[in-house]
Amino acid sequence: MEKEKAKTEEFERQGKDKQLKELLKEKGITGSIDNLLKTGTLSDAESEMVLEFRAGKRKEEELPISIPKNPEGRAEKTAENYKNAPTKTSIKKTLTIRVSKSIQDAKTYLKTLNRNNDHLFCQMCDQEMPVKKRNGEYYFEAVQLFDDEFEQETHEICLALCPNCAAKYRLLVKNHEESRDAFKDALLSGEENLQFSIDLHDPNLDPLSIRFTKIHLLDIQTVLAKES
Ligand SMILES: [Zn+2]
Repeated sequence: MEKEKAKTEEFERQGKDKQLKELLKEKGITGSIDNLLKTGTLSDAESEMVLEFRAGKRKEEELPISIPKNPEGRAEKTAENYKNAPTKTSIKKTLTIRVSKSIQDAKTYLKTLNRNNDHLFCQMCDQEMPVKKRNGEYYFEAVQLFDDEFEQETHEICLALCPNCAAKYRLLVKNHEESRDAFKDALLSGEENLQFSIDLHDPNLDPLSIRFTKIHLLDIQTVLAKES
């Protein structure tokens, strides 16, 4: 009985090894699986996957080593796409000059407003900006409050946010009409309030909070009132 079981297991393992060999062959790796494991031909991650697959903990489609099913075709396609992609210089000429100038203006403006004792703070989490550049300056993102609604380029309507909060604002507020409009209305309401709570219109998400300095809020209200 024991013998039977061992035999079945050995048979299953041979089948799995055969599948693994096929997959590895596509990557240009050949040889018996035992050998490949012993000789260190596979990376640590690959070895781990192979062992897990053998133990039945992974299915074939869960093996990242199976991704390039047709390496030659894929390489050709990538080369073709790369050839047809617009060159960096042409993108730079049409976009970067204008954008980088206004972002730079916005950053200079925001830095003076959100600094306290040489520390720069995020307008959302209220924490000191977590990343500094090699030259010692703070890294932060100047995120425009609302997109493409302003005829003139204006640096007042940006927020100084840490990378984490910048992502939250873009994904949860700017991309969501109701949240965005409600925030805009609140800003325009002109109340003497420097801390705004943004309802994300989702019971699973806590509202976000944005803090302004008096000057910044006044500037924003002026611009928004002109546009609307
Ligand atoms: Zn933050």
